[in-house]
Amino acid sequence: MNTSPTRNRPDFFFRKAGCCTRCDGPFRESTAYVVAEKIAWKVIEVNGEPLALTQREMVPVCSDCVDVRERVLADDMKGGKRSCPNCSLIMFPAARNRLGAVWNGRFCSKRCEQRHRRGSKSAARPYRHCGCCGTSFRGRVDARYCSSACRQARYRMRLEGHVPAPVASSGGQK
Ligand SMILES: [Zn+2]
Ligand SMILES: [Zn+2]
Ligand SMILES: [Zn+2]
Repeated sequence: MNTSPTRNRPDFFFRKAGCCTRCDGPFRESTAYVVAEKIAWKVIEVNGEPLALTQREMVPVCSDCVDVRERVLADDMKGGKRSCPNCSLIMFPAARNRLGAVWNGRFCSKRCEQRHRRGSKSAARPYRHCGCCGTSFRGRVDARYCSSACRQARYRMRLEGHVPAPVASSGGQK
């Protein structure tokens, strides 16, 4: 077992979303530094003792937790600054990977990556106007009405023989 003398930093960290990996604190001014840190990706039990399986990962930390060396690197790599497409966290690369390359990720966390993917799926659905009330809505490609209430209302109107003129886009009436 690695029983190094007391340090103020734990041996490894857990991956977090929305807060600093090292201190769990918020990112001040929505700014983070992406550093290389030992992250536990799984905790198993060996002889009744928990054992963390760790790997080096690029994770965001707050401005309080970035160390001097990382800050110098971040200054060097200012051009790599980017913001998370999901939560808009501004991230400065502050570490190089094993191959010496600047961190090139897009998202601050796996959670943001998943949310963004899910979000862009619904964004791919085009806006259309409801054939009954004219409200713009996002729906399946073959959807013609914004709600089942509108679909039924339209159906009833058709049964009664009076189908209203197409809704003008400028109409503010309900
Ligand atoms: Zn921190
Ligand atoms: Zn994010
Ligand atoms: Zn409608």
